[in-house]
Amino acid sequence: MAEVFLSLGSNVGERRDNILAALAFIDRKGVRLKAVSSLYESAPVGVTGHPDFLNICVAAETVLEPEALLNALQDVEAELGRERTAEKTPRIIDIDILLYGHIIFESERLVIPHREMHKRRFVLEPLKEIAGDAAHPALKKSVNELAREAVSGEIRKIGAV
Ligand code: AMP
Repeated sequence: MAEVFLSLGSNVGERRDNILAALAFIDRKGVRLKAVSSLYESAPVGVTGHPDFLNICVAAETVLEPEALLNALQDVEAELGRERTAEKTPRIIDIDILLYGHIIFESERLVIPHREMHKRRFVLEPLKEIAGDAAHPALKKSVNELAREAVSGEIRKIGAV
């Protein structure tokens, strides 16, 4: 059983409902939710003129191997109606694998820890609520330290999901 941390974001439609629906779907895929952060709102990074995201992070336990976990999460995205089109388009739901135990993993489709996690305040602020002391296995820094250093993007806390 591995402990994993996931990031969820939505910037289309009923964003909070999309995130709640994704959590219910994830739970049905054999990924047991252990902790859920508060809900945050953030401006999209790297594009202008797109709607703001709602974001959360969750801690979970799973027996799925990394690529099987990615498949399960992509199934959830598809079940919620997300179409995989161009990069950075508005999205009903985006689910990223941030950390998977202490492993460092790289394949064509999957990089763990997530390549951008250490730069993104919309990931690190919610993540530090549930995993402040967790270590980034490649950078050898805690989530709390990374959150202090991260600069990208405006973010505000909304409250409990
Ligand atoms: P996105 O547009 O954010 O959904 O990500 C596009 C692609 O990133 C996905 O199709 C995945 O194959 C790939 N990817 C690489 N590393 C990760 C990760 N740690 N978590 C989720 N997706 C990832």
